[in-house]
Amino acid sequence: MKIINEIKFTMPSLSVNEGAARAVVSSFLIQADPTVEELSDIRTAVSEAVTNAVVHAYRGSKGVIELTVRLLPDRVIYIRVKDKGCGITDIKQAMEPLFTTAPEEERSGLGFSVMESFMDKLTVRSAAGKGTSVTMRKKLKSHGD
Ligand code: ATP
Ligand code: MG
Repeated sequence: MKIINEIKFTMPSLSVNEGAARAVVSSFLIQADPTVEELSDIRTAVSEAVTNAVVHAYRGSKGVIELTVRLLPDRVIYIRVKDKGCGITDIKQAMEPLFTTAPEEERSGLGFSVMESFMDKLTVRSAAGKGTSVTMRKKLKSHGD
């Protein structure tokens, strides 16, 4: 797939970087002139994925999170959040609404559901002990729609 533009950056797994990731994604997406709602949906989805890497992937430790944002043809936005943390043993179960491994922290188990409903496509790849890669796509409305 042709990539029109791309940014890639890495950050340590600090929760303050959830906001940094949202800000970087917003600045990059300005070139595609998204609607306020589209931008808000994408920012929220990115936030959920980065939060998961901070709180689950590197639980009790620290590591690197890599964020890739691409502008693809036909106004498709591609986002990948990658970590080298603990990984997910049962991806299907993890993606079920309300499933969480951290109920004592008042996590609601809705992060993946939010990503799924705010984006057009969500793909999760993971290997226990090796890390997780969350890929999301969303097609922005054409101007004049
Ligand atoms: P919420 O997002 O509502 O605060 P949550 O983070 O538990 O709660 P999801 O984001 O849907 O809910 O994630 C479901 C579960 O998948 C998590 O509880 C965790 O066990 C696992 N998980 C998600 N992302 C990762 C990751 N990057 N690395 C390891 N485990 C993950
Ligand atoms: Mg979550």
